[in-house]
Amino acid sequence: MKLATKLVLIFMVGVLAIVGVFSWQTMQRHRMWLATQEQYAENLAEALAPGLEQAFRSGGEIQVQRTIELTTQYLRGPSLRWMDRRELPSQATRLLSRETVHLSVSGPDGNQQLSYIPLELEGHDGAVEVRQPDRASEDVQSAWRASLISVGAVALLSAAVILVGGVRLVGKPLHQLVTQVDEIGSGKLDQKVLLKSNDELGELSMAISKMAERLQSQRETIQRETESRLQAEQQLRHADRLTTIGTLAAGVAHELGTPLNVVAGRAALIAGQKLSPEDVVQSALAIKAESERMAGIIRQLMDFARSRPGNRQACDLCSLVQSTCGLMQPLAAQHDVKLDFQCLTQQPNLIADYSQLQQVILNLVANAIQASPEGGRVDLVVNAETLSAAKEGQANQEYLRLVITDEGPGIPPENRERLFEPFFTTKDVGQGTGLGLSIAYGIVQEHGGWIDVRNGEQRGAVFCVYLPKALE
Ligand code: ADP
Repeated sequence: MKLATKLVLIFMVGVLAIVGVFSWQTMQRHRMWLATQEQYAENLAEALAPGLEQAFRSGGEIQVQRTIELTTQYLRGPSLRWMDRRELPSQATRLLSRETVHLSVSGPDGNQQLSYIPLELEGHDGAVEVRQPDRASEDVQSAWRASLISVGAVALLSAAVILVGGVRLVGKPLHQLVTQVDEIGSGKLDQKVLLKSNDELGELSMAISKMAERLQSQRETIQRETESRLQAEQQLRHADRLTTIGTLAAGVAHELGTPLNVVAGRAALIAGQKLSPEDVVQSALAIKAESERMAGIIRQLMDFARSRPGNRQACDLCSLVQSTCGLMQPLAAQHDVKLDFQCLTQQPNLIADYSQLQQVILNLVANAIQASPEGGRVDLVVNAETLSAAKEGQANQEYLRLVITDEGPGIPPENRERLFEPFFTTKDVGQGTGLGLSIAYGIVQEHGGWIDVRNGEQRGAVFCVYLPKALE
């Protein structure tokens, strides 16, 4: 129910109550007046009785008529008339003796007050009727009518005034304020004071515009803080990238040792000029092959170092894991760990930032290699899964799952909860920064996925990365 309607109803109930009480009082006053009038008629009849009897005895009916005419001149209200016994109403005849009789006869217009003064002389008898005119009930009715009309008029008038006033003074300004609050809710925070009136609505409007101002400044603060948080995150990711490059570079340096030895040995043989022309060709081909292998390793490292994040596009998770494994190969070789990758899905497509996902895989695989014993194996498997509420809050949808399993010691239960905390590391100083997993988790979450960790059946850790599959 609208505010104006409520106000009208409350006001009308009040007005009706006041007018009702007032009308009731008026009615009471009329009733009291009626009772007085009745009493007056009775008293009048009693007072006139001796005089009329005297007149009847002295001059009969004619004398009574004359007395009635004379008396009527001085009376206001009650009327008198001579009635023969035969004309008297039955109630009066029954009651009539020597005493004056008072009757209250109900007629179509309400009760009528009648008094009969009996007069009898030598068999000729009758009575004088004193009739109180029945204006009283008429008065009561007209008082009722007047009350009803005044109640109706007051109610209508006040409803009209309140409606017009309420709509103009309350309804319209409130509607404007509601629209303004809606706009604030939808994000338009540059709001001015709508109502300049010096009342509660004006105060409310002022409070709303101040609220919008405060929200605006809070929004700016949040924006600034978010920007600086994002910047800090970028810097951390960059730092993690550099750490990964450092780790990879160590492996690369180690990996380059063997081909460099081959190149140097073959070159020395050629320089010794003792080789047959066929052997020279063989050695030159070996030098070419090793140089290309070295160039490939360095190119991959350079690619990772150079790539800029922030660009999502359709990519193939299997080929991403495959190439990342190639990049990790030198590190794996350095630790004498075998990398084994299987792609078990035909459509490993997703929309992702290639470079960011590569950082995730590099971090996870580097940890797995570092945790594995010499001669160990790290398994990487990509498959697709439709997950029905595998994780609370996630909708049913198809996910690509990358499972990285190693043969290391696994994760001790006490570290399980802290694994993804930034700067949590169990590695020696200089060996680990504690950023890898927290950054990997952040990146995966930004892609609409998550990372699960558990320990393997026998040993080792199992990291599962879930990423939403691209829609076909
Ligand atoms: P960092 O590798 O620099 O320590 P991470 O965030 O990558 O930082 O890893 C945090 C910690 O998680 C590691 O110090 C290690 O204790 C643990 N961890 C990560 N991966 C593995 C794994 N595959 N096996 C056992 N422990 C792991």
